[in-house]
Amino acid sequence: MLHQQLVEALGAEAVKTAPEDLSVYAFDAYSSGTLPSAVVLPETTRDVARIVRIARACEEPLIARGAGTGLCGGAIPARGGVVVSFARMHRVLDLDLSRRRAHVQPGLVNLDLSKAVSMHGLFYAPDPASQKTSTIGGNIATNAGGPHCLSYGTTVNHVCALEVVDASGEVFRTDVDDAGYDLTGVLVGSEGTLGIVTSAWVRLTRLPESVRVWLAAFGDIDSASAAVSAIIAAGIVPTALEMMDRVIVTAVEAAFCAGYPTDAGAVLLIEHAGYEDDMNTLEAAVAQIAREHGALSWRAARSASERDALWAGRKGAAGATGRISPNYYTQDVCVPRSALPAALRAVGDAAARHHLTVGNVFHAGDGNLHPLLMYDRRDPKQVAAVIETGNEILQTAVDLGGTVSGEHGIGYEKREAMTRVYSTDDLATMARVREVFDPARMLNPEKIFPSGVRCPELR
Ligand SMILES: Cc1cc2nc3c(=O)[nH]c(=O)nc-3n(C[C@H](O)[C@H](O)[C@H](O)COP(=O)(O)OP(=O)(O)OC[C@H]3O[C@@H](n4cnc5c(N)ncnc54)[C@H](O)[C@@H]3O)c2cc1C
Repeated sequence: MLHQQLVEALGAEAVKTAPEDLSVYAFDAYSSGTLPSAVVLPETTRDVARIVRIARACEEPLIARGAGTGLCGGAIPARGGVVVSFARMHRVLDLDLSRRRAHVQPGLVNLDLSKAVSMHGLFYAPDPASQKTSTIGGNIATNAGGPHCLSYGTTVNHVCALEVVDASGEVFRTDVDDAGYDLTGVLVGSEGTLGIVTSAWVRLTRLPESVRVWLAAFGDIDSASAAVSAIIAAGIVPTALEMMDRVIVTAVEAAFCAGYPTDAGAVLLIEHAGYEDDMNTLEAAVAQIAREHGALSWRAARSASERDALWAGRKGAAGATGRISPNYYTQDVCVPRSALPAALRAVGDAAARHHLTVGNVFHAGDGNLHPLLMYDRRDPKQVAAVIETGNEILQTAVDLGGTVSGEHGIGYEKREAMTRVYSTDDLATMARVREVFDPARMLNPEKIFPSGVRCPELR
């Protein structure tokens, strides 16, 4: 019945129900869930609206899907349902150069937007490390961050307006310039639980006149962390301020020969973009702060290719850990910047207690930690150790005044962890917001909310 109606509405080519096709959509970059009942590949907003109406009539949940690079189980079906893949809605629909805006479909790959507008001296600033693959729709749904979000802001700061299909199949539009409630802000980061984004108007940023990239090596994580705080305290907000520890630097050097010093306890990759006239003064100021905090070495990339090499190491860090273990699990937590040394010590202690190797590569400027726990998924003891260590790291972040996700989202993985930061009343209030958009809870069910949390009227 479901299959037949979907085929009638969209054509057989757009509907997948063969088990081998469905199995591909039971995964994201974090884990696997249940098989969907069907996968549909719409080409227009109207297609999406029809899919929603059909799924609703058949009482099937709907799960929107971009590239499936999510790291918290957000795009995988928790109890079957219809997966709406945006693989065929990947175009730039319009460019408004005078207002520096692009109107794009949700399946457009993040980096493809920057490539499409670079000839106009523009780029799309939010740059998750997955930007070669992840989509604008997925980035909007998770409010994705990235190395350069320290100064440019996360995805929410770059979304001007949205076209959305709601849970009943109606199409509506939000705009940040509208008076009244900021529904765009509510939808960004809602992980497909409030509506399905079918197009977005996003802000484009002017390419900077000058970009400098520096690498500072430190004896240990504490001194590198102190330098991070001192740079920001001096009123300097670099465009990126990333830290990598010895485990990561060693893996990255072996994989990419990026030019990182392997004898360092931690390195800072610092980027600043702006006017050329300001750069020498700024470089001297940052280098001085690094030296005052015990930097063992300081290196400035002098060409675009040197800059790219330094960044290639950072962006390929997760993949480089394949040299250490067959599998890794990425934890994603955020702490106040001043708590970085304590948080990193606790991460190291937790990993050591459970006999795991941990590597840290993260957005130090905004306190967003990404401990990578190395393990072998074929060994149940190591899997159990990873789960325990991950939970201890979550609690550490909360105890230090931080939170349970910096940028990857809550999805399925962290929904129970929401109780570590929110009271039952807080969660019930959030559930009320959800009831307004999706009273039947058909949009990406079992995500974000801990099991059992519903709006008070329904409890
Ligand atoms: C190597 C690697 C590096 C990463 N680095 C970063 C990083 O630096 N910063 C960061 O923030 N994340 C990072 N991530 C996580 C991931 O890439 C982001 O969460 C990304 O935004 C997901 O985009 P996607 O297109 O893959 O979405 P998916 O994984 O397909 O979906 C993610 C969520 O968005 C929802 N969704 C997708 N499309 C829509 C739509 N059109 N309407 C409504 N909901 C929708 C899904 O239902 C799901 O809940 C990384 C992941 C990997 C594997």
